Amino acid sequence: MQVVRSASAVRVAIRAARSRGECVGFVPTMGALHAGHLSLIDRARAACECVVLSIFVNPLQFAPTEDLAKYPRTEAEDLASAEAHGAAIAFVPAVEAMYPGPRMVAVVPNAMADRWEGAVRPGHFAGVLTVVAKIFNIVQPDVALFGQKDLQQATLVSAMVRDLDFPVRLDIAPIVREADGLAMSSRNRYLDASDRLAARALSRCLAAVSQAFSDGVCDAATLRAVGDAMLPSDDGITTDYLDVVSASLLEPVARATPGDYVILAARVGATRLLDNHRLGDPFPVLT
Ligand code: AMP
Repeated sequence: MQVVRSASAVRVAIRAARSRGECVGFVPTMGALHAGHLSLIDRARAACECVVLSIFVNPLQFAPTEDLAKYPRTEAEDLASAEAHGAAIAFVPAVEAMYPGPRMVAVVPNAMADRWEGAVRPGHFAGVLTVVAKIFNIVQPDVALFGQKDLQQATLVSAMVRDLDFPVRLDIAPIVREADGLAMSSRNRYLDASDRLAARALSRCLAAVSQAFSDGVCDAATLRAVGDAMLPSDDGITTDYLDVVSASLLEPVARATPGDYVILAARVGATRLLDNHRLGDPFPVLT
């Protein structure tokens, strides 16, 4: 696996792959790789000969109050596991390489980005879309893989690709979970032992809503109440939002139909966790 740290070096490496007739699959990450990230690499490998992984903790998408400085950085381990999963190129730029001078242009999404994560993290998605646009232009992949885990991000990236005609196909991969149901996340390592136990409530909440929907409950208020009952605040859980939304715009629906999502963000102790489930899909059995 080639490790490159500048846009020009990525382009040289990819030109070589293209000259061999290889398809280029791209997995953008912020590192601290876990099995969820590795599933994206595996999926990219299944579709493309040349898999490019990027590791970049993008300061633009963190508010000054957020965890940019303490975000986990485990580059050596990340490179070893990416190579073991068959990535051909790892693009690991420094902040100065990505943002060498004053920035005058950004990709700013419209109203869909102002709710859910956008309401709690103003400016977050402009930071995400700006870096994804830059990195798409650098890598120019055939296929780019994102996780359903960050549903609003995946939805907004899809909107950007469609609205701005980026020549890339997106592949949104299912959520990889721990055996007890907790969605894998780089931030799970912030959880202490009691928070980790309490965090099981998130997937249990989604499982209960999913089960109620399968049992015929379609009224969104009733589904929310079923979910809320699984998130006890005396366990140190504070719910930011729990709702049933449409797949296209992530707008709240009054009556749920298959393909809608139940979305959830909650703080467990000091750690903010996200999760979601597509209604109509089976929820994995929890241990
Ligand atoms: P991040 O490093 O957190 O920016 O995540 C990089 C990519 O991995 C994003 O597209 C995420 O949605 C995806 N991802 C994160 N957690 C998971 C998971 N548990 N299962 C599948 N994909 C994930």
